[in-house]
Amino acid sequence: MMDATIHILPDHLANQIAAGEVVQRPESVIKELVENAIDAGATTVTVVVKQAGKQYMHVIDDGGGMSKADLELATIRHATSKITSSDDLHAIRTLGFRGEALASIAAVADVEIRTKRPGDATGWTLASRPGQHAAVTAAAHDVGTQVIVRNLFYNVPARRKFLKSDLTEFRYISETMQKLALAWPDRRVVFYDGNVLVFDVKPAPLQQRIAEILAVDAADQLLAVNDTEGGVSVHGYIGRPSIARQQRNGQFLFLNGRPIVSRQLAHAISSAFEHVLDKQQHPVFVLHLEVDPTRVDVNVHPQKHEVKFDDERVVYLLLQQATANALRSANVIPTFSAELGLAHRPLQSLPSQGSQGGMVVNRLTGEITSFGTSSGTAFGSTAMHGGGSGHQASSQQFTGAMREAFEQLVAGGLDQSSPRSQDTIQANSAWIVTSGEEGLVIIDQQAAHERVLYERLLVADRSVTTGQALMFPVKMTMPADHIALIGEYGQELQSMGFSIETLAEGIVHIRAVPSDVHPGSEESTLLQIVRSLADLGPTPAERRQSALAAIMALRQSVRRGDRLGADEQRQLVADLFACAIPHSTPGGRPTYIIVSYDELIRRFQ
Ligand code: ADP
Ligand code: MG
Repeated sequence: MMDATIHILPDHLANQIAAGEVVQRPESVIKELVENAIDAGATTVTVVVKQAGKQYMHVIDDGGGMSKADLELATIRHATSKITSSDDLHAIRTLGFRGEALASIAAVADVEIRTKRPGDATGWTLASRPGQHAAVTAAAHDVGTQVIVRNLFYNVPARRKFLKSDLTEFRYISETMQKLALAWPDRRVVFYDGNVLVFDVKPAPLQQRIAEILAVDAADQLLAVNDTEGGVSVHGYIGRPSIARQQRNGQFLFLNGRPIVSRQLAHAISSAFEHVLDKQQHPVFVLHLEVDPTRVDVNVHPQKHEVKFDDERVVYLLLQQATANALRSANVIPTFSAELGLAHRPLQSLPSQGSQGGMVVNRLTGEITSFGTSSGTAFGSTAMHGGGSGHQASSQQFTGAMREAFEQLVAGGLDQSSPRSQDTIQANSAWIVTSGEEGLVIIDQQAAHERVLYERLLVADRSVTTGQALMFPVKMTMPADHIALIGEYGQELQSMGFSIETLAEGIVHIRAVPSDVHPGSEESTLLQIVRSLADLGPTPAERRQSALAAIMALRQSVRRGDRLGADEQRQLVADLFACAIPHSTPGGRPTYIIVSYDELIRRFQ
């Protein structure tokens, strides 16, 4: 009997085991080979796959190539030219560094490498089969390197069986190719499926590269992002809400040029879209993070797409803010008059000293509404919630000096002698047209009103929102699941002004409703809300308020076909552009479009 049962695995077996970590599917091979090409300084990388890479993968680059000696080492595990000491490991600037990709691939497929360095008289070919000594021979080649991988996993039937259909495996490859093309817009990337060209993108600014790869309109649908915070910088583009997708397949994040995957960081970006997109919609983004390499650890995963930051919160907040900034600055577009730069924030609320009431000044119209009364402004909203975007000066004291300043402002606003640049017309009882600084602004009245109401509902000071108590409670019957929803959303409904009592046998009593519910429609309003909640499905607690606000806003908004008076039109325009996110409804539909004056001039030529 032998004493030692432990023995060192032969190299080819060790490599085959290690290959399991690096090479999971054809897509992982493509990713590693393209990264090697980029590391080698290629300006053009060409990828050809056959049968979703299962049969054949060919990656061609015009980078620096390898010497004969290097080629002989290239497929040996832990052979790398990229790091030499453990110090280098703390500041990795290349995509590869583990020296295991080629070794892993060569353990599970036939690999041929053709390479030539710019100054060398001849090139070299390496032919390798799993478990056999690789032979290197001289051959004539173009400068650069080509790697051909045939019959992936033919010697590991279990893994080959584990591969998905050609369609699925090709989709993985094609997503990775998109990622790589977006990571290096300064390189030409060519991608063939057999003889069929999938794409061929020339070096271009990132914006153009995105447009080509994701098939979007660069000028109209992408918003630039550019921010720096705490030594971390982010640049790239986010897609306007109109190109949001049902899946997350338009989301690309890169760190120092390396594609990375991070649910957390993706969430930072999505969260900035919170009030612009539905939960089922996912924003499109292509963002490049640049961080000092010493501050990130890319060596946490063999496939290197997970990274660890020294301080992830900084990165999270940066991404969130940068996205929000980009969204916000895209909305500053309509400025209605240079002097009345107040157009964006026309409503200013002024809580008065001592007494309970307060006032809202519309700095555009000069209109003053006091709260505590329900005289209201257009569309039945209470003045209390005017201003929409949470800028109520509730902490401000209304001093004599301030009153004077605002009276002057108001007086200025009332000056009727100058033409009112915010004049509006209502077209076909559906659209409000007005002139902005850069063009005609065409507003969808229903969508706009939905946005205005939504933001009001969100910022409403719930301690002040009081329902309108009904003299005679409305009694209605409801199915049990609806009643359960009323229970679940009890707090939110109450904060909106509902007071609902659920009795036994599927009966509810409505004792109070929000003040803008018309008498007689209490029952239908509640029913409509509960039905929408049922359609909505499970919603996390922190989203319930906004979900309900969106439902209410939709329900109460003016419709197409509703005629609006001149004052109502103006008010709606002012209210819309006082919103934090004026350009879309809570559901993501656009609220307005702008036809630029340049465009008009072009059209009339
Ligand atoms: P790593 O990229 O982690 O160093 P690889 O196994 O991917 O490990 O590659 C091993 C080595 O082979 C690299 O360090 C590099 O020196 C060389 N190499 C691989 N691909 C190329 C290429 N396309 N052009 C030039 N050299 C290459
Ligand atoms: Mg590599």
